[in-house]
Amino acid sequence: MPIIGLISPKTGMHYSIKDGIKHFEEEGIMPAEAIQAMLNSAEGHGGFHARTSPSIADPETTCRREQVMKRFLDYYLDPFIIWDAQEGILWHDIFEFAGKGLEDWEQEVKCPPDIYTNDDGDLLPGVSIDEADGKPVYEIFPGIFMRGRVDKHDVPFTTITDFKTEKFPKTYGKSNIPKTDWGEKKAVRDWPLQLSFYAFMLDASLGKLPQRIFVWRMYRGSREKTLTFRKFEVPLWSKEMVWAECGEHLTSLARYLQEALMIHQDDTLPVKDRQEKIKNFCATIPMDGKDKNMFNGQKCHRYCVMRDECFALEGKTVF
Ligand code: SF4
Repeated sequence: MPIIGLISPKTGMHYSIKDGIKHFEEEGIMPAEAIQAMLNSAEGHGGFHARTSPSIADPETTCRREQVMKRFLDYYLDPFIIWDAQEGILWHDIFEFAGKGLEDWEQEVKCPPDIYTNDDGDLLPGVSIDEADGKPVYEIFPGIFMRGRVDKHDVPFTTITDFKTEKFPKTYGKSNIPKTDWGEKKAVRDWPLQLSFYAFMLDASLGKLPQRIFVWRMYRGSREKTLTFRKFEVPLWSKEMVWAECGEHLTSLARYLQEALMIHQDDTLPVKDRQEKIKNFCATIPMDGKDKNMFNGQKCHRYCVMRDECFALEGKTVF
């Protein structure tokens, strides 16, 4: 987690984490606990490594430069940029902790599992060790190492389920019923890539590929009971389909991450020089968020935590 401080959305000033949390609390910007939840979450997902993951497999939504910078460069965080994502993560925590006691499902299933060797101490089939952190990973495709958590699978293990949360759209009109429920489209267009990876990881873990995948889509702030929770079936793609969709993207992303990791681990350079060298290296990575006009041009503007650093590399001010 190279987050070294916080940016105030009120003043634009940069603070140390400790001072920033106090400022946000005292100025009534955001409760200290919300910021701490984000920092804890970033720590859980961070670390200096070159792995990819299902959540960054989609070339349509993942900016390669952002992924490398976020992992290897120090930066100041505007917590509001990732609050949306944090709300989604908090839902997972609610389900994991408050929803305990279900008998027919396994939740938050780690792939690879915590115990990844047999009684003789040999690695279980398919498991490799990530040299960067000494923890287990699966090589889902040649050179593509991943680790992840499956939200839920049934105990006989025929289905997996993923939870996705979104804000209830405001444009639904007087009836409060959507003209188009985008979940129908996302289920066949956006979600199969990521979720198929989870299926492949479970296959590597349990030796059995699930037959069906579902998404529970939850609208936050919805009072429409038919829409608050909705379940969609998502097609399971073959490995060939998945590779055709994202193989090139993942290969180049893994290469960029690996190169940044090597600079980060170069003991012959002082730490400050390593940061400078990684910065120069990041300047050579394509600006996918900007070049591909991601999320209707909002990726850089609204979603990217690295935009100040990224635009500074280009000698430009952020927009
Ligand atoms: S500001 Fe845009 S181009 Fe730069 S890292 Fe972020 S998303 Fe990518």
